[in-house]
Amino acid sequence: MYQAFLIKYGEIGVKGKNRHIFEDTLVSQTANALKDVDGSFVVRKENGRIYVQAQTEFDFDEAVEALTCVFGIVGICPVVLVEDEGFDKLAQTVISFAREAFPAPDVTFKVVTRRARKNYPLESMEVSSALGERLLEAFPKLKVDVHHPQVTLHVEIRNKINLYAQTIPGPGGMPVGTAGRAMLLLSGGIDSPVAGYMIAKRGVKIDAIYFHAPPYTSDRAKQKVIDLAKTIAKYAGPIRLHVVNFTEMQLYIYEKCPHDQLTIIMRRYMMLLAEHFAAEDEDLGLITGESIGQVASQTMQSMAVTNQICNMPVYRPLVGFDKQDIVDLAQKIGTYETSILPYEDCCTIFVAKHPVTKPNLKSILKSESHITERMKVLFQEAVDTAETIRVEA
Ligand code: ATP
Ligand code: MG
Repeated sequence: MYQAFLIKYGEIGVKGKNRHIFEDTLVSQTANALKDVDGSFVVRKENGRIYVQAQTEFDFDEAVEALTCVFGIVGICPVVLVEDEGFDKLAQTVISFAREAFPAPDVTFKVVTRRARKNYPLESMEVSSALGERLLEAFPKLKVDVHHPQVTLHVEIRNKINLYAQTIPGPGGMPVGTAGRAMLLLSGGIDSPVAGYMIAKRGVKIDAIYFHAPPYTSDRAKQKVIDLAKTIAKYAGPIRLHVVNFTEMQLYIYEKCPHDQLTIIMRRYMMLLAEHFAAEDEDLGLITGESIGQVASQTMQSMAVTNQICNMPVYRPLVGFDKQDIVDLAQKIGTYETSILPYEDCCTIFVAKHPVTKPNLKSILKSESHITERMKVLFQEAVDTAETIRVEA
């Protein structure tokens, strides 16, 4: 029965002079999200809000599902559009609308009317109270509550009359593309996809990098990461994913460095490689799924040593999250089922039985001093042989 959606946005409404940039980006992101939905839509901004108007029949559930993935949207109101054919006709339509849209026959409600078209013969208040009366006659169990109604029926008188009563929550955040871009270190685990989602939610466009170690890691492990990127792309838009062969560097570190320091040194080289690709992609920072104390490489000491090698800011949106909080989010955004597939990860293959948990920068730098020269060659090879995949939802 719906022909349009009114899109409500939160924070971007308060962006002062830049507001139009946020709105325009939200319009294009919304249109983009609806591109693959069965039906055809026009998205436009109008009086400080965004309208999605269907041009054809469309799949309602698919459209709502697509809109709930657009960052910046806080509410999605399905709208029925009515030709103005006099008040009686309107009242009849409102009654059949309420029959469908009100969640129960005995809810409390109020009618809120906005008269954008000033030549309409009744004042807003008159429309509200007359429609309220008609509804009470049609559904005797309804009750009016003007302060805390369970349902607010909005009637907006424009060229056509807009009716809506339901607000489906959107994801919130900022439209992707309004906050620069960043490089996500994407593993096949549970955490990094969630970290990417959270930074994208603030409007940041995401590039991604995955380190694999063939033949120690399989094509299935790589495909798993591509699949995770695909799910993130549902929210973040198309993702440029760099797949970097880390095998030789890892083997070399394994050969030259104390094994209890392997993970930390590997992680420092991962950061360096990530920064290299990030600079090429014009990213403004790195993103990881680290959380304080989760594993040996994520103690405060380990992260300090890892961080020491980075020049770019490293964003760790999960830093204060418990594992269960991260799992809950992963389930909500749809990455969890893929993340728990049991394929090998390059970090776990070379991991020591007892990795240092409180590494000391001096001793790490000393170990690294044995490996710098040949490492430069291997680093360049890893860069040269990287594969870049454009991943779309
Ligand atoms: P995740 O669940 O994201 O894999 P984790 O708990 O396994 O994290 P680590 O293995 O210590 O933790 O990795 C910490 C972070 O480093 C990851 O969240 C990710 O951002 C990055 N990372 C780890 N391994 C890889 C990899 N193979 N490719 C790209 N990034 C990686
Ligand atoms: Mg991992």
